[in-house]
Amino acid sequence: MFDVIIAANGNSVRMGFDKLAAKIGENTVLARTVNAFRDIDGIERIIIVSDDAPDIGGVLTVKGGKTRELSVMEGLKATEAEYVLIHDGARPFVSKELIERVMQCTREYGSAVPCLKITDSLRGISDGYVSSFPDRNSYVTVQTPQGFRTEKLKRAFACAEKEGLLERFTDESEIYSRYVSPCKLVDGEQSNRKLTTQADFFGLNARIGTGFDIHRYVEGKPLKLCGIEIDHPYGLLAHSDGDAPLHAVTDALLTAAGERDIGVFFPDDDPRYENADSRIFLKKAAEILKEKNLSVNFLNVTIIAQSPKLSPYIEKMRQNIAALLNISPEKVTLSATTTEKLGLIGENKALAALAAAALV
Ligand code: MG
Repeated sequence: MFDVIIAANGNSVRMGFDKLAAKIGENTVLARTVNAFRDIDGIERIIIVSDDAPDIGGVLTVKGGKTRELSVMEGLKATEAEYVLIHDGARPFVSKELIERVMQCTREYGSAVPCLKITDSLRGISDGYVSSFPDRNSYVTVQTPQGFRTEKLKRAFACAEKEGLLERFTDESEIYSRYVSPCKLVDGEQSNRKLTTQADFFGLNARIGTGFDIHRYVEGKPLKLCGIEIDHPYGLLAHSDGDAPLHAVTDALLTAAGERDIGVFFPDDDPRYENADSRIFLKKAAEILKEKNLSVNFLNVTIIAQSPKLSPYIEKMRQNIAALLNISPEKVTLSATTTEKLGLIGENKALAALAAAALV
């Protein structure tokens, strides 16, 4: 009953790279967009309009035109279903609920356009100054998929083409509204965003890693945490300097990067690392990230100790971790907690640290 036309002939000028071929997890953006429409009752065919889309199983690919609407027109030529959904190839996060809502509304009203209310204030502009104050409640932003009765949308496109206006329109709802009738609105979704610039990809492929470490307190060894010397009668028993938070951070970074843990890189029976300054472990992890073209987007460290009181050192430790990794301190958060005198840590026999890292 429905065919889906996926407009995938964008030239990605704003991105500087082929955004539809970029990956989110295992799939390309385009494949993920296509997958969103598979296995939905009532959808007969998926048609990709693209000159250079790679082969995606189970879909029909047709060549596009110079502009979006010329491309969509090529897609329309290939469809004979009663209804059609037009969707942007660069909106891979569309949900099944939204697709079904649009389909339902299209069956009922002959058209359906998902929209979002505007939450920011809206201003008219003129020569770099604010010139008017429109009521934002009178406006919405519109998304895709947009649904139409195929025969009516084809007619609207034919009229636009005849008047030589086809290239001026930015979406189908404008063409349909102009030549057929106003489009019916349905609620869109914030998450159904269009990937337009490189910044839109930031964080989408975040890699997550966690690390944990615990060392026993011993007398006669300086206490080092996050590379900072802390005034305390005990230090941490270890092959290295025992800097548990740096070990936890190193593990978080290594595992997020898909590597084995710190013990594999720096065996604790290797004499080279006896009393080693733990900053070298972190440096090694940072080198690996660099080799893999990964960077730290966020790092959280939690130190668990009954004593000493760590609040005077928190800011210094946070700054030091950021400096060691050559990242801005805003990307690092650090907290300290006790175990309310419970267990080994509560009895001041040990100190533990946790770390969580997100890499992009
Ligand atoms: Mg350790």
